[in-house]
Amino acid sequence: MLAYSLRRSSKVSRARRWLRGTLMLALIGQTIHFVVPEAHLGPLAPIFVGSLTQPAIAVLLMSTMLAGYGALTARYLGGRFVYGLFGLSALLWIGLFFGAVSAPEKVALGQAGWITAAFGAENATLSLATLGYWLLLGTITLVAAVYSFATAHLAEVANRSMFWLLMTPLVLMGALIGVSGSSGLREIGWLMQISGLFGVTYAVLSLRVLDVRRIFRLTFASALTLAITFLVIVGAILITQNIPDNDPNRLLLVIGAAAAATALYVPLRLFSIALVDRVFGAPTEDSTAFVRQYSQDIAGVVELPELSDMAIGALRNALRVKHAGVLLATSENNETIRMEPMRSNLSEMPELRGWLPRSSPIYATLFEQRRPLLQYDIEYSRDYLEVAPELKSFFKQLRMSAYAPIIMQGQIIGILAMSAKSSDDPFSPQDLELFTTLATQTGVALRNARLVSDLRKARDETQALNRDIISTKERLELLDSVKTDFVTIASHELRTPLTQILGYTDILDTLSQQPMIEPDRVGVMTGNIRKATERLEALIADMLDVSRLGLDAMDLRFVPTSLDAVLRLSIEPLQENIKQRKLQLTARGLKGLPEIEADQQRMVQAFKNVVLNAIKYTPDGGRIDITARLEQDADDDEVIHVEIKDTGIGIDPRNHELIFEKFFRVGDPGLHSTGATKFMGAGPGLGLTIARGVISAHGGRIWIESSGMDMEKLPGTTVHIVLPTQLTERDKSTSRFEVTSPYASSARLPTPSAGLPIQG
Ligand code: ADP
Repeated sequence: MLAYSLRRSSKVSRARRWLRGTLMLALIGQTIHFVVPEAHLGPLAPIFVGSLTQPAIAVLLMSTMLAGYGALTARYLGGRFVYGLFGLSALLWIGLFFGAVSAPEKVALGQAGWITAAFGAENATLSLATLGYWLLLGTITLVAAVYSFATAHLAEVANRSMFWLLMTPLVLMGALIGVSGSSGLREIGWLMQISGLFGVTYAVLSLRVLDVRRIFRLTFASALTLAITFLVIVGAILITQNIPDNDPNRLLLVIGAAAAATALYVPLRLFSIALVDRVFGAPTEDSTAFVRQYSQDIAGVVELPELSDMAIGALRNALRVKHAGVLLATSENNETIRMEPMRSNLSEMPELRGWLPRSSPIYATLFEQRRPLLQYDIEYSRDYLEVAPELKSFFKQLRMSAYAPIIMQGQIIGILAMSAKSSDDPFSPQDLELFTTLATQTGVALRNARLVSDLRKARDETQALNRDIISTKERLELLDSVKTDFVTIASHELRTPLTQILGYTDILDTLSQQPMIEPDRVGVMTGNIRKATERLEALIADMLDVSRLGLDAMDLRFVPTSLDAVLRLSIEPLQENIKQRKLQLTARGLKGLPEIEADQQRMVQAFKNVVLNAIKYTPDGGRIDITARLEQDADDDEVIHVEIKDTGIGIDPRNHELIFEKFFRVGDPGLHSTGATKFMGAGPGLGLTIARGVISAHGGRIWIESSGMDMEKLPGTTVHIVLPTQLTERDKSTSRFEVTSPYASSARLPTPSAGLPIQG
């Protein structure tokens, strides 16, 4: 056993050193006890003074062997009391040594009958101490094995603990009986110890230990079969006793009973196995039929979650596992594969994502050798020693017991995973075979489902793209019509005042030829000429302003000012018109706002344009409410948010961005009535373009909120303007009028809180 344990090729690494130590101590102890002839210690004799005799030394060595065994148990089952045990036996050694040397007569350790004598004798402290030490060690070791069995997270670990639990009494009791000193008994003891150590060596050196429960079941089934057969034969013998010797029936009956027992043996055995399996809960499924049914069932399923549920259900039925799940390979590159649990109703896998490196031994087993893998192997086998700790912990956190690769035509699709069986039996090779077959079957359906899901995704993307194209086309068509409208608007706006000027000049011409000139009439006419000229001038000024947009040609002069002042100056010239149109204008929240840095004249122009629109597109008797408040924007900068809300006709959401375009006016340009502040009084379509240019140049933002345009229901319009309170140098240096088209990005500006249509 010692030689075997020295082999290097073993698959397990833990506890091998302790195994060698334990075996070595057992070897020396047994050699001294059996091989060295009693009382003939040769040159060593002087060392063994007093009652520290050869049997006593054997007891000491066995005690140390037990400490080694305790440590081995701790290592094997994962505990940590290794060194404590050695400390304990060192103390025993010292105590025994001095005890034996100083009080030679009283200690008869290892002599025949010392164990029973220890309880009767007066001065047997050392014997009692030794026995107590054995009891203590034995209890600790057994408790450790029971604890490890009860808390095992994997069936394989529980099985190992159970195996250990069976071997421990053999080793401990064997050693104790072995050093009992009474001949005959001690040979039995050594035999027990050796068989116990044999089991232990096997357990430590092999990764997978015999399935204890299965062996138990088989033994039980065999015993049952034997008992029944035995009863048949005994029955036959009892019956034949009543038949006279020379009766030929007697022979026939014996032959018949023997034949019946023989014929019954095999069915009986099968029956016993089935019975025992049923009672102890091991599955007896016809796996071929199951796999056939499963592959038929999943063939038509294309929904990923449904597929995952079917695979989980199949594993639960076929292998009676507690739960299962599917890990999908969601993306991969040359080095790693990203693994993600597939969500479905039955899946109980935690929401974890992990990267599986292609260099990992786990990858090699699953995807290169295409073999199933046990969680037990990942944690205990030497082959997986170099797996990165994060990866180990990823797999551990999944709380699964076995994994099988899902590969389709060389493509890695994922991993099928299952937990322990509900019976907590370890997986048999047949179980793993069935598991792998199910994984392969799942792969076929999974690939189809993925293709369908990819196709669906592609279709959705194309549809979204189509919708984008259509809306872009509509916008372009509208913009195109703006250009055409410009000709109509420009000619109309320019022509009207020009015609007036020409008309009045003609009349004045005629009047000048009359002898009597009426000064009042001339005054009215020059007044009208002035008005027309002023309109022309304003129009030309607007056009000039707009032409400067984007050329950085508008020179802005930033001075500290207040929004209150800006709004006052904007509304002041419009007061008369507001009154005429019987509109009610209110302003709230303007007092107490921080100052802003702005080009006051331009700012007034911008606000005036917005308020003018509110006047123009609100029927007589309507309301215009202006509110202002301090806010934090998305970048946590302080901004002033102004809302100019009217109860007018509203604006169609499709035009919310377009109305900021040059010369854009809603509806048929010919339908507008002329007149600067009349209801629906037409302008050239430049007011909002200029307003946005000015606000942007101040690092601000302007947008429209309105549910739609309705001349009867009057949904109203709210114009939002957001201005930063602190203008950065960058803002100032880049301040220029920019025409923001609906297709241009405006990343530099603070994002408004609501109401802004999504830009392209
Ligand atoms: P205009 O010089 O024609 O007023 P603007 O650029 O100021 O040009 O406005 C463009 C268009 O936006 C207007 O023709 C009008 O249709 C629409 N509009 C602007 N403000 C409002 C508002 N408050 N209510 C309804 N429509 C408005």
